Amino acid sequence: MVRRRAISVEGVVQGVGFRPFVYRLALRLGLSGRVQNRPDGVRIEAQGSAEALDAFVQALRSEAPAQAVVERVAAEERPPVPGEQGFAIAASDADAKARPSIPADLALCAECAREIATPGERRHAYPFTNCTNCGPRYSIIEGLPYDRPRTSMKSFTLCADCEREYRDPLDRRFHAQPVACPRCGPELVLLDPSGAPLSRGPEALRSAARALLSGSIAALKGIGGFQLLCDATRGAAVRALRERKRREAKPFAVMFPSLESLAAHASVSREEAKALASPQAPIVLVRQIPGAPEPLAGEVAPGNPRVGAMLPTSPLHRLLMDAVGRPLVCTSGNLSDEPMCTETSEALERLGRVADLFLAHDRAIVRPVDDSVGRVGGEGFELLRRARGFAPMPASLLEGGPCVLALGGQMKGTVALALGDRAIVSQHLGDLDSPEGAALLERTTEDLLRFFEAEPEVIACDLHPDYTSTRLAEALAARRSLPLERVQHHHAHAAAVMAEAGLRGAALGFSWDGTGFGEDGAIWGGEALVVDGGSYRRAAHLRPFRLPGGDAAIRDPRRALLGLAYASANPRLLEAARALFAPGERAALGSMLERGFNAPLTTSAGRLFDGVSALLGVRTAPGFEGQAAMELEFAAGEEGDGEAYEIPLESAGGGPLVADWAPMLEALLDDRRRGASVALCAARFHGALAGLAAAIARRTGAARAVLGGGCFQNDRLARATRARLRAAGVEVHSPRLFPPNDGAIALGQLAVARARRR
Ligand code: ZN
Ligand code: ZN
Ligand code: FE
Repeated sequence: MVRRRAISVEGVVQGVGFRPFVYRLALRLGLSGRVQNRPDGVRIEAQGSAEALDAFVQALRSEAPAQAVVERVAAEERPPVPGEQGFAIAASDADAKARPSIPADLALCAECAREIATPGERRHAYPFTNCTNCGPRYSIIEGLPYDRPRTSMKSFTLCADCEREYRDPLDRRFHAQPVACPRCGPELVLLDPSGAPLSRGPEALRSAARALLSGSIAALKGIGGFQLLCDATRGAAVRALRERKRREAKPFAVMFPSLESLAAHASVSREEAKALASPQAPIVLVRQIPGAPEPLAGEVAPGNPRVGAMLPTSPLHRLLMDAVGRPLVCTSGNLSDEPMCTETSEALERLGRVADLFLAHDRAIVRPVDDSVGRVGGEGFELLRRARGFAPMPASLLEGGPCVLALGGQMKGTVALALGDRAIVSQHLGDLDSPEGAALLERTTEDLLRFFEAEPEVIACDLHPDYTSTRLAEALAARRSLPLERVQHHHAHAAAVMAEAGLRGAALGFSWDGTGFGEDGAIWGGEALVVDGGSYRRAAHLRPFRLPGGDAAIRDPRRALLGLAYASANPRLLEAARALFAPGERAALGSMLERGFNAPLTTSAGRLFDGVSALLGVRTAPGFEGQAAMELEFAAGEEGDGEAYEIPLESAGGGPLVADWAPMLEALLDDRRRGASVALCAARFHGALAGLAAAIARRTGAARAVLGGGCFQNDRLARATRARLRAAGVEVHSPRLFPPNDGAIALGQLAVARARRR
């Protein structure tokens, strides 16, 4: 007997070859009917025997394409259509009610890689080759549902050959929206910094490769924005890039032609190799090995035993890397912390003094999407920056509730939406201080609301009154007459990790970072919070100290040390701290500390790291935020944990426990006087913080804990803290899908706002 079913499939089912898969499956099972993209997923009507329909519904999950995420399959019986013939792929229905998902950009697949490498193939050496398994998605989408007329490929008319592939359900390019070939698709162009074209097509690529090999800096229009490239083995080129980009010491990522080439420079584990070669193709932090035949220039990642490595992600990268055959620095095309350039005119204007050449093309980038960054830590692969390949894939992390829009933090901005049980977190937007950063935040917010046809009922933001994100949240809440939920920064850090771990009920959150606005107006950052959904109790914090010069102390670890020394009033510590300053500066900063003027109070763990880094002589000069702490982690090297310093906990009249770092700094001075190595002291300091976490868990009787905040980008600290907590019988969770740093603040705000509204 013939039956008919209407089947809806929700999840990541657009832009991943799902409809062709459905089509082939229907042909195989002898079903008639149709499949259609809808804003909320894919809708199928299928007709045939009950057995075939059952097998079909089951296979929708079990045989789905690798990139698809099938979240829900719902089937309803329908009256059969008499005499229906064949199975069709119907045009998308743009008007249906929204529960959409946006596919992420995917790295070049193996089949397309083979094709562009094979002479005689139609797409031999064509840098815009893609198929349903690979290619740009999020970075070219203008609207949903995901179809070519709503992407930046709309201006390219398919040639007869591409059209045939696009229409053939058995072809790998069936309904691959960005499909293109040298005849009908985008073309490369090489420009000089004035914008004058030098060459086009394959010659543009060859000239760019030659220029890179002779030491030039090139700007390349990549998948989600312009990138700056230069030969990573040439010190002079890398130095020039640093000077022109005004980026003194932050490590640059390096693109290697192949895993084999990377293996000559770094030790790469199986898991690291897997992440590098995945369709998301993130930058992965790997350990450099000395003695490579053509070593990376020291200027690539000064003082850093690791390197952020990546493999070619797009066909353009692949062809260029094949042509140069050596590692290239590959860094975001921006000035210091501004967003990446996406338009060629903008790149010429803003990067005209940085790059010698611009390798561009005529496929528009609709929005900036930076490279993602991750590493393999103690618990497996962890993201440190979530962008290309990952954003804005929804994650089913929440309990149901109202639609919430969260505007996130300030330094590693993201925007997030809570829709049903799904958290949708935007790509990393970078620093929001600049006007460009603020504009990007606003545009990304509008994008997400429009794509998901979301009508927020609640807006969430940080407690910090001066964050760009807070101001936008206030404006949106006023404009839409919506309630505004302000979420304390460290509460959000813990809530994000709890959401990812699926924890309901209370947990002890260790939120250790550089800076976050506290309820008392001080700068928090060494917090232990008992978090229970929408509320929290501050269970413990570091002993407060002052930061002379406020924000200036973020980049100068000596100032943190001076603040610690003043607070402790330990004469030896004061002497050691003062010795790091010239007399004039010493007096000026001293008077700030004595009068408490321009010297805000802080409990920041990040600044404690800075102070110890300065005290040990690891970093006694200004640098980028987090540099002193990072170098302290490296200074500990392979040193075992040794006997950790003690950080006593004091209870102060029913308030939070106070962790007094002063005896530890005293012990550190003693160790140094006795000639203990810097490595041992650094190791014992990491151990001290891990031991502190265990002590706080014991005192609060916590059964489970989460680790959040930028300090946990420090792999040694994260591993040691988990180990000590577990040894004390505490269940511990660290983030993996979302970064430990402020990139997860928007997610945490969602979870807190949701909990408060339940
Ligand atoms: Zn492909
Ligand atoms: Zn074509
Ligand atoms: Fe933070």
